[in-house]
Amino acid sequence: MDFVDISKQFVSKYYPRDHLYIAGALGIFCLTLLFVPDSDKGTAVPNKTTRIAIPVGLTATSSLQIPEAKPATELALEDFVVPDKPLLEDITLWRNIEVKSGDNLSTIFSKVGLSDQALFRVLNSSDEAEVLNRLYPGYQLDFMIPDSGELEQLRVLKSPLDGYLFTRHNNNYEVERILKEAQIQQAFKVGQIADSLFMAGQREQIPAVHIMEMANIFGGVIDFILDPRTGDQFSILYDEQFLDGEFIGNGQILATQFVNQGRTFTAVRYRDEEGEVGYYSPEGESMRKAFLRSPLDVFRISSNFNPRRRHPILNTIRAHKGTDYAAPTGTPIRATSDGRVIRASRNGSFGNLVIVQHSGGFQTKYAHLSKYARGIGPGDKVRQGDIIGYVGSTGGATGPHLHYEFLVNGVHQNPRTILDKLPKAESIDPSEIDRFRQQTASLLQQFEDLNTSRLLTLNQPSAD
Ligand SMILES: [Zn+2]
Repeated sequence: MDFVDISKQFVSKYYPRDHLYIAGALGIFCLTLLFVPDSDKGTAVPNKTTRIAIPVGLTATSSLQIPEAKPATELALEDFVVPDKPLLEDITLWRNIEVKSGDNLSTIFSKVGLSDQALFRVLNSSDEAEVLNRLYPGYQLDFMIPDSGELEQLRVLKSPLDGYLFTRHNNNYEVERILKEAQIQQAFKVGQIADSLFMAGQREQIPAVHIMEMANIFGGVIDFILDPRTGDQFSILYDEQFLDGEFIGNGQILATQFVNQGRTFTAVRYRDEEGEVGYYSPEGESMRKAFLRSPLDVFRISSNFNPRRRHPILNTIRAHKGTDYAAPTGTPIRATSDGRVIRASRNGSFGNLVIVQHSGGFQTKYAHLSKYARGIGPGDKVRQGDIIGYVGSTGGATGPHLHYEFLVNGVHQNPRTILDKLPKAESIDPSEIDRFRQQTASLLQQFEDLNTSRLLTLNQPSAD
């Protein structure tokens, strides 16, 4: 398993599977690390207040976490919330341990100087102590051990919002549930393309994970390698979660818009009757298309690489049956649709060539590869977004690029225009369209208003 696989696994825990297929997991990692300073939870100490302070470290994990906001009505919070009561003042008595993969309870207890006997006492104190037998990486254990050396309190946090507090009473421990509700605030961000999508996002301090998610959402309608132009604008409305005024994580994108060369694409989040979450046009057409517009993921291309400076169309003078994407050698190439690999071998001027057969008489070809993705060979099934190989310059290529062809029933088509002629993607079922409109109307109106005021601001002559 390589780094990318590991990253993917990591990210898939926090991201719906079907949004992952485009997301550069590696990119998420690198970017998140860039944007979010890694704080060392192991040495974090609780706030100096006497309230039950929940130390929140902004790590890569917490910024990727997209917990579902629970409707307040489902929880009778007042039954659970731990009253703010004074604990011992000396914060040096607290030891905060973040559970890492491979950790076990016994080693964690001995790390803070507690015996197996102490562990046993907590474990047997209540049914809720069962949580200690099912620790997952990312859980936080906070131990309060005064000079006596006895465990006075133990806080087990599954997340900043959910956990238990064990407090010693003589030789036993009483347990209280910690259940907090995040305050949800909506954030609205706009960006304008001057150089790259990334830079635009960075300038506006839009979380990288949301820029990537936006590119995923529009991956079936916009080729984020070739389509964006200087002056293109985009906007994103998303949830942010706070606890006691402190930012604890980003929520889902609620609505997003990309204006590409004068064409406006809008997508709104909708949970259908079956509970499936997806993004749809305001008219109810799914944003998920049969084909991705680009066989390369914009986030897999190193950020200092500017395709426009490197003449993206390398072979326009020759009769050319495909689209060329200039990209550094080694850039991953993804299948643009579900299908079956029918060739993965060298073929003359194509160099290393992968051909994928899709249903409906569609075929895609990927040429000049430096190498094939591990395990890719004839007969293999691939899903949309799966990595099938890596950019190179084998065969007749003058420089590293991907030569991409699109065939319909054996006839070459321009991949840049053919997709507009394909049948429309699936839409909300007519029986559900009223529900869709009802649930998205006010959100879309709000989003539209925000976009309108954004345009007014952008068009206003600046004061200086
Ligand atoms: Zn070519």
